[in-house]
Amino acid sequence: MPSGPLRDGEPVLLIDRRRRRYMITLRPGGTSDLRGGKLSHDDLLGKEEGGTIRSTRGERFLVVRPTMAEFILEMPRGAQVVYPKDLGAILIGADLFPGARVLEAGTGSGALTMALLRAVGPGGRVISYELREEFARTAERNIHRFLGPTESLVPRRRDIYEGVLPEDLPLDRIILDVPEPWRAVPHATHALSPGGIFLAYVPTVPQAVEATEGLRASGTFALIDTVEVLVRPWNIDGRSVRPVHRMVGHTGFLVTARRVQRQEPSAALEAPLDSAEDTDETEGL
Ligand code: SAH
Repeated sequence: MPSGPLRDGEPVLLIDRRRRRYMITLRPGGTSDLRGGKLSHDDLLGKEEGGTIRSTRGERFLVVRPTMAEFILEMPRGAQVVYPKDLGAILIGADLFPGARVLEAGTGSGALTMALLRAVGPGGRVISYELREEFARTAERNIHRFLGPTESLVPRRRDIYEGVLPEDLPLDRIILDVPEPWRAVPHATHALSPGGIFLAYVPTVPQAVEATEGLRASGTFALIDTVEVLVRPWNIDGRSVRPVHRMVGHTGFLVTARRVQRQEPSAALEAPLDSAEDTDETEGL
């Protein structure tokens, strides 16, 4: 992660008194127009983050490097991104680890790709399939801007429903953010190593149902679960200690499954969550 003085080409977040955020990329000699005032990038280059700067209108801004979540919410988006709250759950739900070989589709704006790249690290691989040229280009720009050059990324212009390329094997994880992930289940069966994890991120209930049924019908997946993540921010200010009035009500469902050896659907493996007799089993979820 970048640290030390702010450098040429880095994204920087400027935050005003009312917590409005403005993301700029620092360039020697560059200026940015912010709320009717100007900022000179030369006043920021070489400085430590965490300080404040005044625009020519006298307005003060806090200067920090964006976190990945902040970057994702501010970056140009061609497609709907996976929200930060879900990114965290995907990394744990799909049990990403340094060195993992992961296949992802589609790349979209590259938000999930960035989270995966960080999790697998320099020794891992994120192979990312995307159908649409313009999305792939936006994603590559975003990823490069935030992470710099990365050899762990393998972008491909390709339809995941048509299968996984032999050179992309073997795979530890397959993570899908496409409209019909169940169409990729037969490919995932062939491509995933034993014990590997399949995760589909889908916005609607019928998609979660069809993904689950496709995984069950395959006979090669077990421990099939669906969760959604609700994050409720709180306001803590004097006596006003309460949830904030608005929250993100819905984004998507995470459907996960483990690649296992072919088997007849069995009650033990396919039982719905709430039928588990041992309550410890569900507490852990
Ligand atoms: N996860 C991304 C957003 C993905 S949006 C992010 O966080 O930024 C869904 C993307 O899937 C779109 O870009 C779409 O073009 C792509 N897509 C849809 N069907 C696909 C398929 N069959 N194979 C590969 N990509 C596909």
